[in-house]
Amino acid sequence: MRETRSTCPYCGVGCGVIIESRGAQITGVRGDPDHPANQGRLCTKGSTLHLTASAAITQQNRLLQPLRRLERGGSVQPVSWNEAMDFAAGQLLRIVDAHGPDALGFYISGQMLTEDYYVFNKLTKGLLGTNNVDSNSRLCMSSAVAGYKRTLGMDSPPTCYEDLDTADCLFIVGSNTAWAHPILFRRIEAAKAARPGMRIVVADPRRTDTADQADLYLPLLPGTDVMLFHGMLYIMLWEGWTDSAYITAHTSGFEDLKDLVRQATPEKVAQVCGISTADLMQAARWFATSKTTLSLYCQGLNQSSSGTAKNAALINLHLATGQIGKPGAGPFSLTGQPNAMGGREVGGMANLLSAHRDLANPTHRAEVAALWGVSDVPAKPGKTAVEMFEATADGEIKALWIACTNPAQSMPDQTTVRAALARAELVVVQEAFATTATCAYADLLLPASTWGEKAGTVTNSERRISRVRAAVPAPGQARHDWAIGVDLAQRLEKQLRPGLPTLFPYTQGTLDQNTESIWNEHRESTRGRDLDITGLSYGLLEREGPQQWPCPQGVGSGQARLYTDGVFPTANGRAQFAVDAYKPVIEPRNARFPFSLNTGRLRDQWHGMSRTGTLGRLFGHVAEPSVGLNPQDMARLGLKELQLVALISKRGQVLLQAKADPQVAPTQAFLAMHWGSEVLGGIDSAGLPLCGVNALMPPAFCPTSKQPELKHAAVRIEPVELPWTLVAQAWLPAGEVETVRAALRECMTQFDFASCVPFSNGVTIHDAGSERHGVLFRAAANSAPDPAVLQKITTLLRLDGADSLRYADAHLGQLRAVRQARDDKGDSVIMALLLAGNANSEAWLSAYLRQGLPAQTLGRHLLSGSSTAPVKLAPLSPQICACFNVTQASIQSVLRQHDGPPADQLMAVQTATRCGTNCGSCLPSLNRLIATSTRRLVTTDS
Ligand code: SF4
Repeated sequence: MRETRSTCPYCGVGCGVIIESRGAQITGVRGDPDHPANQGRLCTKGSTLHLTASAAITQQNRLLQPLRRLERGGSVQPVSWNEAMDFAAGQLLRIVDAHGPDALGFYISGQMLTEDYYVFNKLTKGLLGTNNVDSNSRLCMSSAVAGYKRTLGMDSPPTCYEDLDTADCLFIVGSNTAWAHPILFRRIEAAKAARPGMRIVVADPRRTDTADQADLYLPLLPGTDVMLFHGMLYIMLWEGWTDSAYITAHTSGFEDLKDLVRQATPEKVAQVCGISTADLMQAARWFATSKTTLSLYCQGLNQSSSGTAKNAALINLHLATGQIGKPGAGPFSLTGQPNAMGGREVGGMANLLSAHRDLANPTHRAEVAALWGVSDVPAKPGKTAVEMFEATADGEIKALWIACTNPAQSMPDQTTVRAALARAELVVVQEAFATTATCAYADLLLPASTWGEKAGTVTNSERRISRVRAAVPAPGQARHDWAIGVDLAQRLEKQLRPGLPTLFPYTQGTLDQNTESIWNEHRESTRGRDLDITGLSYGLLEREGPQQWPCPQGVGSGQARLYTDGVFPTANGRAQFAVDAYKPVIEPRNARFPFSLNTGRLRDQWHGMSRTGTLGRLFGHVAEPSVGLNPQDMARLGLKELQLVALISKRGQVLLQAKADPQVAPTQAFLAMHWGSEVLGGIDSAGLPLCGVNALMPPAFCPTSKQPELKHAAVRIEPVELPWTLVAQAWLPAGEVETVRAALRECMTQFDFASCVPFSNGVTIHDAGSERHGVLFRAAANSAPDPAVLQKITTLLRLDGADSLRYADAHLGQLRAVRQARDDKGDSVIMALLLAGNANSEAWLSAYLRQGLPAQTLGRHLLSGSSTAPVKLAPLSPQICACFNVTQASIQSVLRQHDGPPADQLMAVQTATRCGTNCGSCLPSLNRLIATSTRRLVTTDS
C-alpha cells in the first residue's frame, strides 16, 4: 500500500487528496487533512475518485494506445506512437505549407496541469506561429478574467477561502455553491453556525439548495444581474452608504458610473429583475453596511453575453463601498475547473500570453518571445473557442487539435461544432477516455494520462498552487499531455527550426524533474509580474505544502489577500469603475419560445461526465436526464410527471422527461449541463441525431471576454406523443457495464428519443465491495424499430438465453423479457428486464430488480404488462445521501417520529441514518426536507 498526496481533478476548490494505491492500481482516496483548501474533507465527487480509476472501468473506457481512422465514419486501427506522431506532424506541416499557421486550431482544457498548458501555449504561439490556441476555460472563466482586468487592472482574485470564515455578509450570485463547490459550502455552513449574525444573500433565478440557506433570496429574472447591481448602487448612493474616502483615494471613474446608475431606480430595477423593492433595499443595505462583505460568483455571471459587464458591475459595488482589500471582503470569482487559474497564469488562451501578459501588447509579445528564445510572437489575435469552431465549419481552419476536452458535448450550438469537426481535414483528439462524443470525429486518437497518473501543478480559486503527483503509472501506452506536446514540437522543429537547439528541452530526467523544468520556465516568466512566483519551487511546495501567489523571490510565503494597501496594478494605481449599461439576455423569451431555459450542474456529476458518468452510484441523486419545470407550468401545459417533452430552441431540440420542480420559477426551465449525446439521444424529424443539451444553446458571446451565453436560451416546450416505448435494465458484471453502455449508445439513433445511464444498488462509501452495477436504457418512437435493434438490446442485456422468460406479439409490436437468477439466499430475483411496446409494468418490475426482491412467486405476472404490482410495494425513493445510501423515504420516516426544532430533527436523522455525516454534500437537501417537514407540521397544527 502506498499513499500519494495530490489534488482533486474536478472543481476549482482544489481539494487535497491522499491517493491509496497498490502496485499500479489506485485503491482508495481520502481528503488530505493538511491541505488548506479542504482540511481533509471531500465531496461526493472527490470521495469516489478512486472508483472511477478501477481496473474494470479503466479497461473499458480508457484510450490505451494511439488509434488512427483511415476514413471518416470508419473504424479505428492501432498504430505505434511513432507512426501516430509522424502522421500528426506531417499533416500539420502540410496544412501550414498550404494555408499558413492560422489554418490550425488548438483547443485545450482547464483540466490540464499548468505544465501541460505551458507547453501547448509555447508550441502554438512560439513555434507554429499561430495564436489559435484556446481553452475550454473560455466557456467557464473568461468573463471573470475580463471583469477583474477591467476594474482592478489584473486577473487576480483578491480574496481567499479564509474570508468565508470572517465575512459578515456573503453575497452569492450566479452560483449554486452548495452543489458546484460543496467543500466551500461546508465552510459557509460552519461560519453561519459559528456566527449566526452573518447574513447570506443569494441572487439566482432558481431557488437552489444554496438559495435555500439564504437570509435573503433574490429570485432575479435571468440575465438581469447588471440591473440588480446598478439598482443596489443607486440605493447605496441615495442612502449615503458608499465609502467616499475609499472612492476618492483609490478609484477612478465614479462620476460616470453615478450618471449611469441614476436611471436604475428601485421601482425600475424591481420590475426588470422581478424582485421586490424591499428585498432590493435589504440586499443593498447588507452589502454596503456590513462590516465586511464577500461576494461569491460563478457561471451565472460568467456564461453570458454580458459576462464582463456583470462581473465588473459587481466589482463596482465592492469598490464603491470599500469592501475590498481587507479580511472577509472582496469580489471572489469561484473557478469551475481544477486548473482554470493555472491556464490563465500561463496565458493559455487566444488573447493572453504568459504571466498575465496581453497578446495585444507589443512589449508583452517581445518579452515572451525573448523568454522563449524565438524571434517573435504573432500579433494577430487568435480565434477564441466559438470563433475557432465557426472558422473550421467555414473552412478557414483546416486542422483541429483537441486535448483533454469534449467540444462535441460542451460547446454551444452543437450543429455548427459537429459540422466543424466533420469538415476539418484533420482532427486529432488527445484524450484519456475513449467514450467522449468528440472521439467519434477523430482521425487520430492519442491516449493521455489522467488523474492519479499525472504530475505537475494546479492553481485553485484562491490563487493557491498545489502539487499534483502520480500515484500509479499511466495504463497501456497513455502518455502525459505535456509529453505529447513536446514530442509533437520536437518533430515540427526538425522542419521549422532545422539545426537549432530545441525550444522544448524537458525530457531529460524523471517525471517530476521534467515537469519541474517546464514549471521553472513558467516561473521565470512571472518575475516582476503581479503573479510573481519566483519565490516558489517544487521543493518548497514539497516542504511547505500548497502556496498562494504572489510569492516573489526572497519573500518566503504567499500573499493571502491582494490590494490591502488600496494600490491596484493599473497605470495610475487606482481601480477603475466600469460603466456598462444593462443589456438583456441575447434571447429573451417570446411568444414562439416562451420559456427561459437555465442550465446548471448536478450535485454528483462533473461536466460531460466522462469520469463521474461511469459510476452508477453517482446517479443515485439524479437518475436520468430530465427538464425541471415549475409545477404551475406542468399543470398549465397539461404535463404529467415524467412525461416526454421536446425542448426546442432556434438551433435544435432535445427530447427528455419533464419533472415538476418547485425550485424552478414559472416560465423558466432547468436542464443540467451534463446531459450530452453520450447519455441522451434520439433523432429529429429529418433523421439527424439529437446531440444533447448544448444543441439548444446559442453561440452568442460577450464582446469583451468572448465567453458564450451557455446559461440561457429561449425555448418552447411541447408534449411529445411517442406511442411505442421501451425500457430495459440489467445488472451486469462490473467489467461489462461500460462496454454494454457503449454498444447501447450506438442504438440511440434508432429511436426518436433514447437515454442510457448506469445505476447501482446504492451501497455506502465504505462498502464498494458489495456494489452491483447496472445499465438503464430508455427509448420511445412513433413505431416499433427494426427487429434487429431490439434483438441487439436483448442480447446485450443477456435476455435471450434459456434463463429468460419472454413474451412477444409481433402484431402489436410488443416484447417483454425477464431474466432471473438465484441470489445467495436461494431466492429467485430479477437480473434484467426489457419491456418494449408496452412499459406499463416498469415501476413494479424495476422495484423488484433494483431492490433484489424475491420474485419466484410472480409467475406469469412477470410478463403480464400490467401496471399493477401483484403485491403492494413501496415505491423507489430518491437517494439523498450518496455516502450512506440514505433515501428521502427513510429520512421522512425519521422526521415523522421527531417533530422538535430543526436542529433536533437534524440530529435525529443523522443518528438514525448517518445522512450528511461524511462529505456533507447532502446537507442542503436534508435541511430542505427538515424545513418542509416543519412547515407541514406547522400547517397541520394550525
Ligand atoms: Fe473535488 Fe469536491 Fe473538492 Fe471540488 S469540492 S475539489 S469536486 S472534492
